[in-house]
Amino acid sequence: MEEDKKMTRRQVVTGLGATLAAAAVSPVLAGTKTTNHTSMEAKISDPTTLHPKPPFRSQPQPWPGLQSKMDPVPDCGETSYKGSGRLQGRKALITGGDSGMGRAAAIAYAREGADVAINYYPSEEQDAQEVIALIKKEGRKAITIPGDLRSEDFCKSLVQKAIAGLGGLDIIVNNAGRQQSINSIVDVTTEEFDSTMKTNIYAPFWIIREALPHLPPGSAIIGTTSEQAYDPSPDLYAYAQTKAATMNYVKSLAKQLGPKGIRVNGVAPGPVWTALQISGGAQPEKQQMFGSWTMLGRPGQPAELASIYVQLAAADASFASGQVYGSSGGVGQP
Ligand code: NAD
Ligand code: MG
Repeated sequence: MEEDKKMTRRQVVTGLGATLAAAAVSPVLAGTKTTNHTSMEAKISDPTTLHPKPPFRSQPQPWPGLQSKMDPVPDCGETSYKGSGRLQGRKALITGGDSGMGRAAAIAYAREGADVAINYYPSEEQDAQEVIALIKKEGRKAITIPGDLRSEDFCKSLVQKAIAGLGGLDIIVNNAGRQQSINSIVDVTTEEFDSTMKTNIYAPFWIIREALPHLPPGSAIIGTTSEQAYDPSPDLYAYAQTKAATMNYVKSLAKQLGPKGIRVNGVAPGPVWTALQISGGAQPEKQQMFGSWTMLGRPGQPAELASIYVQLAAADASFASGQVYGSSGGVGQP
């Protein structure tokens, strides 16, 4: 089992394991000359064994958590994502860009040729610096703008700093999110409810409103919603409704901004192995068996969603607006 996992890692990182495995089972592949067709076949990998499966070690962290301290560390495409110039010269602001889906998007965007500004909560500096190093390694601009998204003043300054640092802005990924699992509505404090609404609903509103006058036609706005928008869990009373709101603003803004040439879309992940879940987002029992209920028997890794964030931002997706693209391992609804 452990050896399986190691093999799986190598396959992801180098593709070599997959090539050897294909050669071992297929004398036809092994014996013939390498064609494009053959090398494409060699890259096929089984999604059920591609990434770690539960059970996971119990590992609660105080909010907002550091993914570098998780076991296993979430895979955000650090060693696997390969770009092909799809976002050359673009300028992106990504909230929650230090970890999880935001980090996967930041790495992918840089490898596709974009300059990237990331926002995160100040205590996440360690995770953020890893992302900055990876963006710089691609020769792209990497801007850090830490701060608390629950503040309107901060959200306004975030946009202005991103525009100043990047020399403009044409992609906004409103990805940061607050999720705290609380079994009974009786125990949801007004402060907690307010924090969830501020982070997940107000911050995207403040950011988009501030940025709009600066966004050229061709710009893309992407919101991270969730399967929770359509099939809410009982312990996520506050969070789930913010994800329904995100799905909804994606659709209303797509109508409002379409005539200006600005596309607005959403990504709806299912269970993905991130710091959000181990820093209050899921109950301990759920954390340990996280993702076991999907049809792949495991949670998603942020890297598996990176290409969706790229696709929705890329100029060749020019007819996609008001869409929500899901990725949830065979369960849930986008
Ligand atoms: P994550 O913890 O890695 O990222 C969430 C980020 O939100 C944090 O890194 C933090 O930087 C940011 N954030 C939260 N509150 C903030 C605040 N007040 N100020 C500044 N930044 C703040 O977890 P993730 O799972 O990658 O989350 C990214 C998005 O994906 C969220 O919107 C989340 O709701 C959504 N989502 C996650 C899952 C999942 O299973 N992990 C499923 C569906 C949707
Ligand atoms: Mg984080």
